[in-house]
Amino acid sequence: MVSNDFDLVVIGGGINGVGIGRDAQGRGIRTLVVEKGDLGSGTSSASTKLIHGGLRYLETYEFKMVGEALSEREIIMRSAPHLVWPLRFVIPHTAEQRPYWLVRLGLLLYDVLGTRQLLPRSCGLNLQRHAAGWPLKDHIVRGFQYSDCWAQDAKLVAVNAMDLVQRGGAVRTRTKVERAVRIGPESHWSIRLIDTEDTGKSSYVTAKALVNAAGPWANVVDTQALGRNNAPALRLVRGSHIVVPRLYSGEHAYLLQNHDGRVIFVIPYEGEFSLIGTTDVEHDGSMDQIAISADEVSYLCSAVNRYFKQQLSADDIVWTYAGVRPLVEDENVGASQVSRDYGFDLDGAIGKTAPLLTVLGGKLTAYRELSEAGVNRLLPFFPNAGEAWTKRAVLPGGDIGLDVEKAKREFAAKYNFLPSSLAHRLVHDYGSLADDIVNKASRLADLGQYFGQDVFEAELRHLCDHEFVRKAEDWLWRRSKMGLHLTAKTRAAVDAWFETNARRGNNA
Ligand code: FAD
Repeated sequence: MVSNDFDLVVIGGGINGVGIGRDAQGRGIRTLVVEKGDLGSGTSSASTKLIHGGLRYLETYEFKMVGEALSEREIIMRSAPHLVWPLRFVIPHTAEQRPYWLVRLGLLLYDVLGTRQLLPRSCGLNLQRHAAGWPLKDHIVRGFQYSDCWAQDAKLVAVNAMDLVQRGGAVRTRTKVERAVRIGPESHWSIRLIDTEDTGKSSYVTAKALVNAAGPWANVVDTQALGRNNAPALRLVRGSHIVVPRLYSGEHAYLLQNHDGRVIFVIPYEGEFSLIGTTDVEHDGSMDQIAISADEVSYLCSAVNRYFKQQLSADDIVWTYAGVRPLVEDENVGASQVSRDYGFDLDGAIGKTAPLLTVLGGKLTAYRELSEAGVNRLLPFFPNAGEAWTKRAVLPGGDIGLDVEKAKREFAAKYNFLPSSLAHRLVHDYGSLADDIVNKASRLADLGQYFGQDVFEAELRHLCDHEFVRKAEDWLWRRSKMGLHLTAKTRAAVDAWFETNARRGNNA
């Protein structure tokens, strides 16, 4: 029988919620993560997907935050090298921007602030000679190059949740925390959960501690589910991206300095596309309708058109997405200047009041460190909990070594009946778990129903059984971006399969 009594319940299955849940469970704190939609369906699948220090935060003197984030890059990359990989960025330089010497100085600082063993250092670039200059306008003759990392953000959420479950914890998706109250003389939390797909269905769980990791919904959870009106306020800032057919060849990204002092990234995306973002716009609309505006589209196109020979318009866009940053409120600065650093609010007293820890702000890059620091804050309430452990731990599928191309080649040779494009994609998306998908197959027919375009039932089953996927969109547009590649016919066949075969992916 499944127990409904937990040490810790975490509200929110974004990167911070699953990160905290995984960290806590690994220290022996029995944890349940509750997510009202799909895992990562909030901000954590809508980021620019950079695992980075944030070059522009040096301008606001956030050296500590930048240094810590820079050190996290290689830690996260080693934990899941198939999902996080190095990316070289080119900064074209023109006279109207920040002075050349200032950018050079910033990059030198960027090279030395954090621990860096794998990523190459920055350098100057002659864009008249270097191939990175070819797609750019002719007057742009010099620039720089530096390194950061790029991640499949929603997938990183999923593998953290998988790890939590493999360590004995639980995850419930499509389940909302409706109400949480402290009860009993030995105060603990009683938490009412609602099935968001069958709202008549509710259940209760108890916990010794509660974490509010609802990201941009944290204030809503505070007032509506927890009945608090004194929680720290968040600043909600929307960021949007556009996806267009690939603007250039080459595996590097561009960082473009915009005329308003902000920076825009152009990143190779899914082989055939370029990802362009992001914006910083106050979000005062509904949290159920987060979408790019026409102004943001023209802002992003104009930024690209200032640098690239090829001119973009809204007609070129094949996909867009937007998310809302939950930033720690600072009324004195504009949306793009609000700090991206994180903080916590802890409410509770040992032996008297069961703790409530609220996560404030954060970055995808900082999730592991934030999770460790969050669980550390709860340690006085869990004196028997173990030591911090995630710094050197590998995430599910991440034990393939840093040479991912070699792992792909070996996998393709081992299962030589697979088309090489499929073999490579499976390792790219699942790392060593690709073996579990192909399992004991010795021919394509052993992989079950075929949907077209290298999609077989064995993969969809794995997603349902292990990655909490319940609907086609969870896979097509979140865990992967296969939605961009598959035809309408293949997508419809995948959709129909999930309609009849996806079972509730809850592990609680
Ligand atoms: P979320 O991912 O939003 O998770 C919160 C979850 O709580 C949601 O899934 C929601 O459904 C759930 N929830 C809410 N209420 C309830 C309830 N009552 N019951 C159950 N569940 C509930 N960071 C980087 O490091 N690099 C980047 O390149 C980068 N780019 C960004 C670009 C944009 C446009 C944005 C918006 C952010 C970017 N970030 C980046 C920041 C990063 O994405 C966020 O800091 C991070 O994803 C926040 O994660 P979270 O878990 O706190 O919130």
